[in-house]
Amino acid sequence: MSVIYFDYAATTPVCPQAVDAVVEALSHFGNPSSRYPLGREAAQRVKAHREVVAKALGCSPEQVYFTSCGTEGNNWAIRRGVELNRRKGKHIITTALEHAAVLETCRDLERQGYEVTYLKPDRDGHINPQDLAAALRPDTVLVSMMLVNNEVGSLLPVAACVKLVKAYDPAILFHCDAVQGFLKVPFSMSSLGADFVSVSGHKIGAPKGIGALMVKKGVRLTPYLTGGGQENGMRSGTEATAQIAGFAAACQATMAQSDRLSRTAAIKEYTLARLRQAIPEMKVISAGDVPHICAVTLPGYKSEVVVRVLGDAGICISSGSACHKGKPSHVFAALGLPKPWLDGTLRLSFSPASTQAEADQLVSALQQAADSLFTTLS
Ligand code: PLP
Repeated sequence: MSVIYFDYAATTPVCPQAVDAVVEALSHFGNPSSRYPLGREAAQRVKAHREVVAKALGCSPEQVYFTSCGTEGNNWAIRRGVELNRRKGKHIITTALEHAAVLETCRDLERQGYEVTYLKPDRDGHINPQDLAAALRPDTVLVSMMLVNNEVGSLLPVAACVKLVKAYDPAILFHCDAVQGFLKVPFSMSSLGADFVSVSGHKIGAPKGIGALMVKKGVRLTPYLTGGGQENGMRSGTEATAQIAGFAAACQATMAQSDRLSRTAAIKEYTLARLRQAIPEMKVISAGDVPHICAVTLPGYKSEVVVRVLGDAGICISSGSACHKGKPSHVFAALGLPKPWLDGTLRLSFSPASTQAEADQLVSALQQAADSLFTTLS
């Protein structure tokens, strides 16, 4: 069965350039830490790939630490960040919109005696910088704010918030989970100004199992994994040379598509317009500030049933973040949506490769699902 995919915020297909780079890297199997030519060659390759990833992130290669995923970068920055400031206090600020990789890390720190303030979004998934200003305290040690929300596609005011936090107290560390913003909205380490920025490869056409944490120059982050001293002593463990090669190739291939954002935005707009026309009972929760994500709801319907019915027809959409495993989404709940809206939430996410023909099939499958489920329910 051919698959129609509208869940690019969950993960993306590995792009052909990344597949080739991975296969090629697998045959250069040397350990980058080995001193003979085979090892040195592997080290040279990792160096070149780090330069490519650094360019995509707008920072220097020495600021890039490869990780296994976005979750790891978030854990590293938050856990080691609060440790760096342990003499300052035990107060953390984050938002109620964050991915579980941030929220569960904060909850774990709460169990260890930290106090966490969760900033509430407005109805559209936006955070007001003034709420952050009001939450800052002398004992605040770290702020963690995502760049783009993965379920409603809202863009958070990270650069403005970094300025505000640093003006209050430059010692407060700022972490940004930029997993959904990387190569989807323009930003660089310096434009954000954050101390730590985490990204993930599998959201941009790289294989799963690779991500990166960027650390601002001068911030003395401590190692996450101790051992043989790889990643400049910051993350020990033999480098994932093939995944790193795939990550660099995916960055390059994505950056080469200069019209990718306008194409993605256009197909999202087309899909939303068709949905509004074809299924009047469907409500748009958020059209998304970013090109690739929007959220809609079929009030009163069960989103997991709709997702299953569409899945059986070969169409992949999400009832929210793929990480929820059937639990209601904390993000939609934080928006204060009425219960029938909460039940029927669906996230649609797009790529420049998404076509109008695919969108038409999605719309008619959703229309059919809505009709048949309505008949069964009534
Ligand atoms: N942060 C955000 C905003 C995400 O959307 C995701 C994945 O969906 C993650 C973090 C986790 O990234 P990874 O799957 O690479 O661990």
